Amino acid sequence: MDDRHYLVDVRPILEDLGAIIPLDSDVDLPEIILGTEAFKPLRPGHLVADVTNSGAGVVVSGSIDAEFEAICSRCLREFPLRVTAAVEGFYVLPGDDVDIPEEQEVSYIAEGAFIDLMEQLLSALVLELPFAPLHAEDCPGICPSCGADLEEGGCDCEPVSAESPFAALKDLLPRSDSE
Ligand SMILES: [Zn+2]
Ligand SMILES: [Zn+2]
Repeated sequence: MDDRHYLVDVRPILEDLGAIIPLDSDVDLPEIILGTEAFKPLRPGHLVADVTNSGAGVVVSGSIDAEFEAICSRCLREFPLRVTAAVEGFYVLPGDDVDIPEEQEVSYIAEGAFIDLMEQLLSALVLELPFAPLHAEDCPGICPSCGADLEEGGCDCEPVSAESPFAALKDLLPRSDSE
């Protein structure tokens, strides 16, 4: 991942308990690498969230909607994958975190009263991205013999399904006629 940022100036709400900055904006996202999968953004993500002065700090709550180019793990076809993720963040001024319970995840308000939402956005999206993307739930994949795309009519190869190691194993096991 690169070092892109998404900065929000929180000065307008910093002195005003309960004040909200509503966000409704496009965010340029970097490519997200997850294991062996790479998800390239097809368009800017769309973020809708409220940034609220909660007294203890600044709370960010909303969602991001994004679209990535993914590669189907069965047929290797590229397809657009749409993802919506809930975004939550809690930011405090450096030094203001003494009373915060340890289990609360905290980010810091940067000098000049900016918060950087990029880390929250990316970790929210990563939670929603699949480890094995499928272009369709029932994607038949490719022929294991010749590599033809089975969804597009396939090939003339002999079916290999009966030759699975489990089929052979079944013949070795004693039949149980328990009824
Ligand atoms: Zn597929
Ligand atoms: Zn084939």
